[in-house]
Amino acid sequence: MLMEKYFQKIPRDYILCNACLGRQFPSEKKDLNNAMRGKELKKKAGVRENQTKSCLICGQTMSSIERYADMIMKSLSDYEFNNFVIGARIPTSMIEQEDNLRAEFKLKGGETLKANFSRELNDEVSERLGVEVTHRRPDVTVVVDSLVDIVEVSSKAIFVYGRYNKSKRGIPQKRRRCLECRGKGCPECNLTGYSTTDSVEQRLTIPMLSLFNASRIKFTWIGSEDSNSLVQGNGRPFYAEILEPHIRKPKRMQSAINKLRDGVSLKELTLINKRPKSDQQFTISVQSKFTLNKRITKRNIQNLEESFDETSVKMLPANKNKSIIKNIHSVKVESIKGLIMQMKMECEGGLSIRRFITGEGDEVEPNISSILKREIKINQKMPFDILAVNLKT
Ligand SMILES: [Zn+2]
Ligand SMILES: [Zn+2]
Repeated sequence: MLMEKYFQKIPRDYILCNACLGRQFPSEKKDLNNAMRGKELKKKAGVRENQTKSCLICGQTMSSIERYADMIMKSLSDYEFNNFVIGARIPTSMIEQEDNLRAEFKLKGGETLKANFSRELNDEVSERLGVEVTHRRPDVTVVVDSLVDIVEVSSKAIFVYGRYNKSKRGIPQKRRRCLECRGKGCPECNLTGYSTTDSVEQRLTIPMLSLFNASRIKFTWIGSEDSNSLVQGNGRPFYAEILEPHIRKPKRMQSAINKLRDGVSLKELTLINKRPKSDQQFTISVQSKFTLNKRITKRNIQNLEESFDETSVKMLPANKNKSIIKNIHSVKVESIKGLIMQMKMECEGGLSIRRFITGEGDEVEPNISSILKREIKINQKMPFDILAVNLKT
């Protein structure tokens, strides 16, 4: 029988480790693993184990499972995870060696070196840790590169939902790119790529990075406010994607929230299970105090409030040709003192509040200025404040 001949020939003619030999004959002695089968085949062929010579296919790879498992254990030691998977990068030359041998002897159906190696590593590490292996979105993914002998760990991003309040004017929402390096990272910006100037993002980033022991955070803001606006009430909601976290379920969540104060504070911070949808609808409640160029009457006020009672306006965003419709739920005048008017309004998120009040740039039609037929000057130091942001479910 042809196969029978190869059982003798291959172990005699080629220096293969037990696993690489056994792997070529998957239909033999199915109850044995590759290495055990290889050992048996060598014994039958009268070949003595030669530990000093390296395997024609894998070099020392298959005999280094324990050593790689040690390396993996070490690099996983500061990660928190419920499941994991290990993958391997095997040099092309090794893959070719195995392919050549299989082609020459028409060997079929055996596991590949790569599959064999990573399966055994997964089994070994899973047993040592008592943690399950999963191929479907694992918390951590380990890649062993056998050519350069390194282990790389990456962890699945986690998502949080939170709300922030701003009690100090002059803090912009977003971090700005470092002007020196334009985001590449330089000594000026401590290699972060971002300007160290104060911002809500910067204030939230620092404690959150340390809470999750993560490398980077990507924020999705639900609307934005002027840097001189306050955010009161239940706060402005946001989502954040925590990249490469070492900690997945922080125990100090509340204390991280409490640490934030002096201008920017966190009202809420919760872990969420999946990536949030990007087009979250919301409504906002805003208060603004501004100056009119001429006095107005009670009739003007009545007309204004009626004009913006559950209606919509057209907004033409800068550099866009298509206008967007935004709902206005209400506008209420709270006080008039001479030319100073204070009002409260509720509208759909995404409307440019400043332009809706002043009508500047003709970008929102109709607007408060156009209905009152007055020019409106906003106080730049306190243009408007956010009283509430409510998510639409
Ligand atoms: Zn081998
Ligand atoms: Zn820089």
